[in-house]
Amino acid sequence: MDLQLQDKVAIVTGGSKGIGLGIVQALLAEGARVVNVNRSREDGERLERECADKGQVCRFIQADLTSTERCGEVLRAVLQEFGRVDILVNNAGVNDGVGVDDGPEAFLGSLQRNLLHYYAMVHYSAESLRANQGCIVNIGSKVCETGQGGTSGYAASKGAINGLTREWAVEFAPHHVRVNAVLPAETWTPLYERCLAAMPDPVAARREIEQLIPLGQRFTTVEEMAAMVVFLCSPRSAHTTGQIIYVDGGYTHLDRKCTAGNVSDFGAAQT
Ligand code: NAP
Repeated sequence: MDLQLQDKVAIVTGGSKGIGLGIVQALLAEGARVVNVNRSREDGERLERECADKGQVCRFIQADLTSTERCGEVLRAVLQEFGRVDILVNNAGVNDGVGVDDGPEAFLGSLQRNLLHYYAMVHYSAESLRANQGCIVNIGSKVCETGQGGTSGYAASKGAINGLTREWAVEFAPHHVRVNAVLPAETWTPLYERCLAAMPDPVAARREIEQLIPLGQRFTTVEEMAAMVVFLCSPRSAHTTGQIIYVDGGYTHLDRKCTAGNVSDFGAAQT
């Protein structure tokens, strides 16, 4: 299927690693021109060079997105170089463990790391998205539905991102700008691998998490996340807006009992 993304201009925040990198690579594979907005310089510059060698455009703009002023500068730079924005993927975020006992200032800091830049990037790209009938994909998290404990700022941010996805879908609908959200639960990334590597028994820790994932008892891959995002960016999903889509192997919504044993036996329990 041709996703009709050739030469579209797509901004991806946090595109140097993990899920963001997967999204960048999937957009490039469809012929889009990508702007990767990321904090650390090394990975972004390397990626830009590697893509240029293959004839792909993956412009790196270094920015710490916690500065909303910097978000404005990023958009000005994109518009100066490319003249348009067709796609905005808000992806950068961190489960920073700001809990009830950490206090209001720490809570605000977490909103700055996880929420404010989603709004700022939409604010600064809105005019161009309207002009081009573009689209927005917000990356959320299952935590806003399930809770996790000890992570108030992150949970609040991800809950707000679901709310804003619906709000923006309504506000932008008259301009044919679509807005959707994609929510991971347990996606395997290098960061995840490093976190588990720090545990006493990383293999056992991984198996324990995998047992909780109904479909296939395995982590979601970055490529599976990216495929959904790229489809939502494509005109092939032209009548899909305001949707909150869980790419999570059923982790968030399926009955807990189905992870306790054989899924095919599960129906027999009838409780
Ligand atoms: P990751 O591997 O840590 O990658 C995040 C990327 O975003 C990094 O390149 C990071 O840059 C960048 N970034 C973070 N904060 C930034 C900031 N303030 N300014 C600029 N760049 C920033 O994370 P991931 O697991 O792929 O997560 C991506 C999204 O998915 C996040 O919104 C996260 O909440 C969500 N999510 C992931 C999972 C999962 O299982 N992986 C589950 C639920 C939700 P640096 O390289 O400079 O650190």
